[in-house]
Amino acid sequence: MASSFRNRPPARGHEVLLALGANVGNRRKTLRAAVERLGCWLTSLRASSLYLTAPRYVEDQPSFLNMAVCGRTMLSPFELLAVAQAIENGLGRIREQRYGPRTIDIDIIYYGSTIITAPRLVIPHPLRAERRFVLAPLAEIAPDFIDPVTGLTVRAMLEALPVQEGDCLRTGTLDLPPTTGGARSRS
Ligand code: ADP
Ligand code: MG
Repeated sequence: MASSFRNRPPARGHEVLLALGANVGNRRKTLRAAVERLGCWLTSLRASSLYLTAPRYVEDQPSFLNMAVCGRTMLSPFELLAVAQAIENGLGRIREQRYGPRTIDIDIIYYGSTIITAPRLVIPHPLRAERRFVLAPLAEIAPDFIDPVTGLTVRAMLEALPVQEGDCLRTGTLDLPPTTGGARSRS
């Protein structure tokens, strides 16, 4: 009996932390729309500030606006990936060059303490520990979240990053309505 209960989500759902980025078109408008759409699937949603980030990996492209969102969901990890990709597609993302320009990117960084290494889905996100543009906004909204692989808090992982002046600058907020988070929470 016990095992059949183990796979059920906790009553309030699983805690999930997502990273969003945009560097094509009206980045703020796209991020706002993405957060609003995620709000259909997440309760207790909280959204970080925005961060202006120099492009990495492929450097000849516009700067990114990055942010993070956390909340609780009843979706499974793969359902959440499908929702994230549907939102990306709905907002006009075309998949071309890896690490290249994108209207919107939604990555699942954490799904509670779950560890997944499937071909289509790796959680925690494998590049989280080297990305200030992921850890800085996450540390605003979930500083005490414990990384299930390293055992470190998000805050500690951010503090462990080498300082690189100017590579990721906080640049205001989305001014979200209260129903979609914006440093406030919805329960
Ligand atoms: P990027 O690696 O730059 O985010 P994409 O957004 O195009 O690239 O995603 C490429 C693939 O990464 C997706 O098709 C998805 O299946 C896979 N993927 C693996 N792990 C994750 C994750 N944690 N969050 C989002 N996508 C993931
Ligand atoms: Mg992605």
